[in-house]
Amino acid sequence: PAPPRPPAPRAAPPTPPPEAAPARPRRPRVPADLGAWGAYAEPAAGPAGDDPLAAVRRHLGDCRRCGLHAGRRHIVFGVGDPRARLVVIGEGPGREEDLRGEPFVGPAGQMLDRMLERVLHLRREQVYICNVVKCRPPRNRNPEPDEVAACLPFLREQLAAIRPRFALVMGSVALRSLFGPGEGIMRARGRWRTLRYEGGEARAMPTFHPAFLLRRPEHKRDAWADLLKLVEAMRADEAERG
Ligand code: URA
Repeated sequence: PAPPRPPAPRAAPPTPPPEAAPARPRRPRVPADLGAWGAYAEPAAGPAGDDPLAAVRRHLGDCRRCGLHAGRRHIVFGVGDPRARLVVIGEGPGREEDLRGEPFVGPAGQMLDRMLERVLHLRREQVYICNVVKCRPPRNRNPEPDEVAACLPFLREQLAAIRPRFALVMGSVALRSLFGPGEGIMRARGRWRTLRYEGGEARAMPTFHPAFLLRRPEHKRDAWADLLKLVEAMRADEAERG
């Protein structure tokens, strides 16, 4: 009888094509062209004129009020619920945010999402997220005072449009821009402030910036404590207002 046949050799793994197709770039969520509405990340709410936040976005327009406009891909105006009770305020867009036209979508954004979900039990769609400056500073440097001065009025207009009851102020740039240059986040974090805007005020909780927490995770415990104060106050406020 014929000897048993040796097992057939395994098929060789397919060789990759000589030139792998380049990864498809992630599609930005907003159109690339910046007309007055180009980078407006919020859902359009009815005809122009009836949404105060839309009016702020139109006022900002294709902004060239400071030098940051020269290097930007998108104006990163803000995202979330235009009627949010809580506004989250960061420093300024990074690379990923500039590409997508949406704040906090890079690594710091993932950290922020975790902070919101795990401690405040809120998804990012349930708050409003924005920054002190709306264009990316080159190489992610801190914004210069003239850049903050040019952009801050629009943050104040956003606050007046949203009328939040609470604000989470993240990092020294946001803290100093809103409360004065002498402030330091190490001392200020965890202590309530009042953030006034036209027509109202919010109770503001300063805490560490999520990008800082990624570099220095030993400070997460403090940030979590700050967020717990915020969630307690928000719950009390909700109970009071019914
Ligand atoms: N850091 C910020 O301060 N804001 C962003 O939108 C992203 C990173």
